[in-house]
Amino acid sequence: MSARRRFRQLVRIGPVQVGSSYDSRGIEKHTAACTAPRCGFSADYDSRAAAELAARTHRCPVR
Ligand SMILES: [Zn+2]
Repeated sequence: MSARRRFRQLVRIGPVQVGSSYDSRGIEKHTAACTAPRCGFSADYDSRAAAELAARTHRCPVR
């Protein structure tokens, strides 16, 4: 995850962290990012539900 952004409501689902933040335009974004070394999965979603679903369904290639 980018260190510049402030994530709220940070939760961990398996190896994936989900957090909500506001982008430079003040629009809320929901990010799912895998914490496993060498995985590198990270994606932004428009809704919290979509980010949490992505976290739950993430098939980590490292594990
Ligand atoms: Zn992963």
